Amino acid sequence: MTPRTFSLPRRRFNTAMLLLPLGAGLTSMAGAAAKALSASSTPGLNGEDVPTTWDLTDLFATDSAWNEEAEALKELIPSLASGDVGLDNAATLLATLNRHDAITLRIMRLQVYAVLKSSEDIRVADDAQRASHSYALAAQLKEGMAWRDRAILDLGRQRVLAMIAEDGGLEVYRYPLMSIFRRASHMLDAKGEAMLASAQAVLAAPQRTRQTLLSSDIEFPEIELPKGKLRLDLEGYGTAMNTAARADRARAYDLFATTLHRYERTLGDILGAKVSGNAFLSKARGYPSSLAASLDATNTPRTVYDTLLHEVKARIPLHHRYLEVKRQLLGVDRLALWDMNAPATSLDREWSLAQARDTTLRAIAPLGPEYAGEFAANTLKRWADTLPRKGKREGGFVVGQAYAHPYVLLNYRGNFDSLSTYAHEWGHAMHSWLARAQPHPLFDFPTFIAEVPSKLNELLLLEHLSANADTRQEKLFYLDRLCEQYRGTLFIQSLFADFELAINTAADEGAPPSGPQMSEIYGKLLAEYYGPEIQMHRYSNVMWARVLHFFLDFYVFQYATCLTAATAMLDAIHRDGEPARQRYLGMLRAGNSDDAYKLIAGAGIDLATPEPYRRALDRFERAVVELESLA
Ligand SMILES: [Zn+2]
Repeated sequence: MTPRTFSLPRRRFNTAMLLLPLGAGLTSMAGAAAKALSASSTPGLNGEDVPTTWDLTDLFATDSAWNEEAEALKELIPSLASGDVGLDNAATLLATLNRHDAITLRIMRLQVYAVLKSSEDIRVADDAQRASHSYALAAQLKEGMAWRDRAILDLGRQRVLAMIAEDGGLEVYRYPLMSIFRRASHMLDAKGEAMLASAQAVLAAPQRTRQTLLSSDIEFPEIELPKGKLRLDLEGYGTAMNTAARADRARAYDLFATTLHRYERTLGDILGAKVSGNAFLSKARGYPSSLAASLDATNTPRTVYDTLLHEVKARIPLHHRYLEVKRQLLGVDRLALWDMNAPATSLDREWSLAQARDTTLRAIAPLGPEYAGEFAANTLKRWADTLPRKGKREGGFVVGQAYAHPYVLLNYRGNFDSLSTYAHEWGHAMHSWLARAQPHPLFDFPTFIAEVPSKLNELLLLEHLSANADTRQEKLFYLDRLCEQYRGTLFIQSLFADFELAINTAADEGAPPSGPQMSEIYGKLLAEYYGPEIQMHRYSNVMWARVLHFFLDFYVFQYATCLTAATAMLDAIHRDGEPARQRYLGMLRAGNSDDAYKLIAGAGIDLATPEPYRRALDRFERAVVELESLA
């Protein structure tokens, strides 16, 4: 199976992200003919059928129905491009917004079908083609609606508020409309906006260059492993770190780091160009920093970022303490960086798909009968493509959407990682399902909140399994996994967030770091977060170069804040029971009806204060203490 590397968690797909090309995974190859997945299922524990394939006819009955809709939309989109429909009164504003919303929904429906269909078998050229077609339509849509926000700004906040008061139909647009005014001072005039739009291709160039360099130009070395040869590109490196024997891991790390080091200057120039682009955009829009510009998209306070880093750094000795237990569990004299993703404990236990469903259902009991009931019902519907298959897209993801129901892709293989992914992805799916309480414009939530329910489900699962473990060995395994959550998500993502802030700040000040300077910054952080006991490689400092997430603009810190919020939320549910549970479920049902930060704060977890981080770190400490006593 594709290893789960804790330092680079899966990205989540939601409908907002579908507006961006998914890229690499959709390379086409001529081959198998398109055919629908036929219904199949596996027996549940109580005689029910647990489906293993999804039913895409909830989206489109046939491929040709999809093609017809794509044609119709292609005709329709150009009509959005002109502002002459007018926004001069409440009725025309509402009509325009409704029209845009309806077409956006139709395009998303096209995209979701195309992405899901092409995930069934990535070798099918027709399906891959349909997916890229849907991205092109989404890009046209975005272009076509580009005039609108500017025109709304020109109406003025007071006038728009008066229109909302006059026509109740506009109420559902209040939050998105007010978000436009909130950012008004950072919008340029029409000429300025057009210039920024035309700079997009140049600003996107660094990521493309990196992709080309890493995927085709750099000759990555190969390593001979017992199972055969492994090419040590980014993916192969991850595989080796997760699965290989210790001596092979050390060798793989050496080969990989040495190769990256050869390109340190070039990779540094590329990332330097990227952060210079961030600095350019933030200056053009009048933000004090690249971080401020990025956080403003979701109206997340800067104190969230700073508090996370401050609180995590204050507890770095706890990280070192855990690493010492990890060393003992691995039975090595000195822990090395290439030991970090190697499993320190193992578990000889498997769960059938029906058992995974049943176990997750028991684990989520603290969320109450209503949530559990919906989970039980939804997991019996044909919403998920569950089992691995030749040609199927690897990993797991959820596409949440407003018009039908969420779809879940899994590659369920029966081990603990699969079970945990099952609980994680269904956490996303349930969030999307509950958020349907909102009308469409308020439905699709950002990453800042999205990983909370998935992480919370993973924590619940570990709690449940740990409480019911049959042997000391089994308990040790779950505890180790819990500790790895906090190590990988809270400490390592904070290290990345620290690095990302440092290089962006340098660029904001007009001096983007070179490759060797980036390595110097990264080396200092490695030394600080890992401590003097950990063995490094002479080129460990260059490992920043493998992290794609630094091109995603302040993305990684959200993994850490989401795990923090999930831990604090679970604490509250255990402590306060029903009221805390209702606050949590209310947050899920709120979708995107307000800023994600405010929705989480409304559920009682203020991520701009130290308290939730301290709760999460205390939870980690309790797990480490318990692990020490069992190790
Ligand atoms: Zn996720």
